[in-house]
Amino acid sequence: MDFSVRKELIKNRFENQFSNTPEIIVQAPGRVDLMGSHTDYNLGYVLTQAIDRNTWIAARPRQDKIVRIASLNVEGTSEFHLDDIQHDTVNPWTNYVRGVADILQKEGYELTGFDGLIHSTIPFGSGLSSSAALEVASAILFEALADWEIDPVQIAVLCQRAENGFVGMNCGILDQYSSAMGVANSVVLLDCRSITHEIKPIADGVQVMICDTKAERALTGSEYSERRAQCEEGVRILSQFYPEIRSLRDATLGQLAAHKADIPPVVFKRCQFIIEENQRVLDMAAALADGRHEDAGQLALRSFDGARDLYEIVSSEMIAMKDAITGAPGVFGARGAGAGFGGCLVAFVREGEIDTFSSEVLKKYTDFTGIDADVYPVIAASGAGLVLSRSHN
Ligand code: ADP
Ligand code: MG
Repeated sequence: MDFSVRKELIKNRFENQFSNTPEIIVQAPGRVDLMGSHTDYNLGYVLTQAIDRNTWIAARPRQDKIVRIASLNVEGTSEFHLDDIQHDTVNPWTNYVRGVADILQKEGYELTGFDGLIHSTIPFGSGLSSSAALEVASAILFEALADWEIDPVQIAVLCQRAENGFVGMNCGILDQYSSAMGVANSVVLLDCRSITHEIKPIADGVQVMICDTKAERALTGSEYSERRAQCEEGVRILSQFYPEIRSLRDATLGQLAAHKADIPPVVFKRCQFIIEENQRVLDMAAALADGRHEDAGQLALRSFDGARDLYEIVSSEMIAMKDAITGAPGVFGARGAGAGFGGCLVAFVREGEIDTFSSEVLKKYTDFTGIDADVYPVIAASGAGLVLSRSHN
C-alpha cells in the first residue's frame, strides 16, 4: 500500500475511532527466515531479514494510564489500566500489547497510556511474524511516549518474554530480534546464543519471493512445544556423554551418530535436523554472499526435505507449493518460512523472472489444491522505528 495513502487511512480511521488526531505513528516489520527453522530455541544460527510488510500503530498519549486499542485488521476495541493489566479473553489479540506493557513495567520502565490504532500489512499466522511485529511496535511506542530509551536488542528480548510469559507461546528470539534489528538491503546472520548478529549482503540478482499457501496453520502450541521438548531430551541424553553440550547448537552429527542406540528414534530425527539445519545457515550465508545462487537453492531444498522428513513440520499444502515452485521459471530453490505446519514458503528467484515465476506458481498451486495462493517479492527492510514523530505532526 502506498505510504501516503496508508498514512491518511490510519489518521482518518483514528479520528473516527477516538474523536481526536494521532500524535505519533510507529512501525515494526515482519520477517522472513532465509535459513534456520527451529534453530533459534536451540541457541543456534538463523539467516533472517526484516521485510517491507509491517505493523503500524498510530497513537495519542493519555494522562490517565489507560491504554485503549483497536486494530484495522481485527474486530473489537479493548481497554486496560497500566496499574492492573489482566489477560483479555474477549479480544485475545490485545494480549500481545498487554504483555509488552506488563513486562516493561516489571523491568521498571514507567509507561504512559495512549489511544492507539493498529494497522498491519503482514498476513496473520503465515510465518512472517505478525505477532512479533505487534509486540515490537508496542514497545517502540511506549518508548517514544516516555523519557527513557531502551536498546533495541533489549526490546527484542523483552518482547520475546512477553510472548512466552503473557501470551503463552514459547517461541525463540528470532521473530522479535528480526523485527527490532532488521537492516535495509541486508540479511542478518543471527546468533541466538549471544543474541548478536553479523550483517551479510544479499546476493546480486536474487529476488526473495514469498509463496503463501493460504492454508490454515494449525500451530496449536502443542506441536511446537513437542518439538522443543524433543530437542531438550536430545540434549539431556547427549550431555551425559559430552558434558559440554548445553544445547543442540553444541552437538555434532558425529556425536549424535555415535549414540544412536541411546536416543529414541523420533528424538534422533529431530536432533539430526537441527544440527544439519544449523550448519546450513552458515553455508547459506556464505553462498548468498559469494553469489553462488545454485548452491543457495540446493541448501534451501535440503532444508525443505529435512523439515518434511526429519522435523515433520511440513503440511500437504506446503508440499503442493513446493511442487508448484519446482521447475517454475528462474527459481533456484525454496524452503518453508517460519515454524511450518502451513503458512509460507520462501523462494529464491532470478531477478527479471519474478512475473513469469509468480504466474506459473499461482496457476499450478491452484490446480493442485483449489486454493488461491499469494506470491510476491519482499525486500530487506530496517527494523522498528518512528513513521511520524510527535514534533513533525
Ligand atoms: P504470526 O506471528 O506467524 O503471524 P501468530 O499466531 O504468532 O502468527 O500471531 C498472529 C496473531 O497476532 C493474530 O492472530 C493476532 O492475534 C495478533 N496480531 C498480529 N497482528 C495484529 C494486528 N495488526 N491487529 C490485531 N492483532 C494482530
Ligand atoms: Mg508469531
